[in-house]
Amino acid sequence: MIQTEKFETLLKGKKKELLDRIQGLVKDKTRLDGPLDADFEEQATMLENSEVVDHLDLLERQELALIEAALRRIKDQEYGVCQNCQAAISEKRLTALPYATTCLNCTP
Ligand SMILES: [Zn+2]
Repeated sequence: MIQTEKFETLLKGKKKELLDRIQGLVKDKTRLDGPLDADFEEQATMLENSEVVDHLDLLERQELALIEAALRRIKDQEYGVCQNCQAAISEKRLTALPYATTCLNCTP
């Protein structure tokens, strides 16, 4: 049985980092485009309309979704179990990729 606490901390840290980065992007964009008058959600929508930042934003959103899914698996006590063969995923792999859903054998 793996210790999920440290991975939960790791994932929450990554999530915060990601949100901070997205918010940083929003602030940068706002500074270029005008005053800070839109709320965060409107600014995020604005970002989606920018081709360059949109790409970054999309990747970060995808990572965020993976992190959220991993946190949900921790809550459901399914964390660290390969979704393909049900084997335990090694702690070494989880440390490198805390939102991994498959073991090394099942990863192409
Ligand atoms: Zn597997």
